[in-house]
Amino acid sequence: MKVLVYGAGQLAQMMYLAAAPLGVDVKAVDVSNREILHPVSKQKLELNLDYALADVDVVTAEFEHVPEELLSIAEESGKLSPNARSILTGADRVREKALLDSCGIPNAEYRIIRRFTELEDVIQSLGERVILKASRDGYDGYGQWRYQSPDDMEGIKTALASLDLDTVPIVAEKMVNFDREISLVGARTKDGKTACFDIAENLHHKGQLHVSIAPATHLSDALKAKAQEIFTAITNALDYVGVLAVELFQVGDSLLVNEIAPRVHNSGHWTQNGAETCQFEQHIRACLNFPLGAMHTNKVTAMINIIGCTSFSRDLISIPGCHLHWYGKEVREKRKMGHINVTAESYHELSNKLEQLMTYLPEPYFPKISGEIGRLR
Ligand code: ATP
Ligand code: MG
Ligand code: MG
Repeated sequence: MKVLVYGAGQLAQMMYLAAAPLGVDVKAVDVSNREILHPVSKQKLELNLDYALADVDVVTAEFEHVPEELLSIAEESGKLSPNARSILTGADRVREKALLDSCGIPNAEYRIIRRFTELEDVIQSLGERVILKASRDGYDGYGQWRYQSPDDMEGIKTALASLDLDTVPIVAEKMVNFDREISLVGARTKDGKTACFDIAENLHHKGQLHVSIAPATHLSDALKAKAQEIFTAITNALDYVGVLAVELFQVGDSLLVNEIAPRVHNSGHWTQNGAETCQFEQHIRACLNFPLGAMHTNKVTAMINIIGCTSFSRDLISIPGCHLHWYGKEVREKRKMGHINVTAESYHELSNKLEQLMTYLPEPYFPKISGEIGRLR
């Protein structure tokens, strides 16, 4: 069987690696020029897109910002999984908010800004702290502006003045005073069955995921059930097939959806070493209509993103249960270069291993990881 992935980054690479043992071949598409690439070597393959689309069993996407025309071509072929509506909903915060509201799913209070002249009024109406998000093409906190005091207004006006709000409106959200961020990654099959991994707890820095711990500690059964209900409501509404992630804010006993990702997700990378079946294999299974794999957690796991640096020793893999996943990309500031999964039998053991791991990593990693070590003990 063959799968074509829109996008040729690390998620396509990891889908390839997980699909190979099932006898499934994965090829990647650079959506900027429609070239077909090998997902690991990134070598250009002598295939055109039309041929590749005709040749494969399933077309999927590793990111939501795929040109609409490419989604349409794949949808018309009957091979796109998840469907175009799901991918477009994940790509556009206006559509995403409409979906959440129509399902009655709590999310951060918001208003949509379609005219520059509305900016100040909208910010005033939402409160003292507001986060402005471009409705399209944002990720890792790009395309976002934070209003935390009146001093920020001028800078935000300058940044937004150059945007075309007719085509890309802004979603202004009230800043949520959350206790923590968690995410639920799960799968839905063609016949409408859903199954989820354990919920991960996520630590962000400057809008970018740095560390996930799974399963999230101290999570009540009631909140777990609530998150699963949200996952089921969203995926049923979209008639979704494949793996989807829901990013959530926990505020006391309630959950607000931050956003959804219609794909495999960074906060699900821990499943590669901590769960019975990883999210990449599960996505391939769901899209190809194979039976899903078991999704239980085998080990408590910490996932640490390596961001914008390569200056550490590979010897960190000498720590038992420490697994390096390297993407082979050129180093750039804020770029995700790879991640490390550390698995353990208990949170206490995990904290000891994280302490060991710190000795291998450059200093900017220390504050994040040492915070986790303290919390897990
Ligand atoms: P991703 O890489 O996850 O797709 P993104 O660029 O789409 O990121 P969001 O997930 O919307 O951005 O926001 C990034 C981070 O900013 C969140 O994980 C959270 O830490 C913070 N954030 C976003 N919206 C809010 C909000 N309404 N209140 C408080 N914090 C927020
Ligand atoms: Mg996002
Ligand atoms: Mg996010």
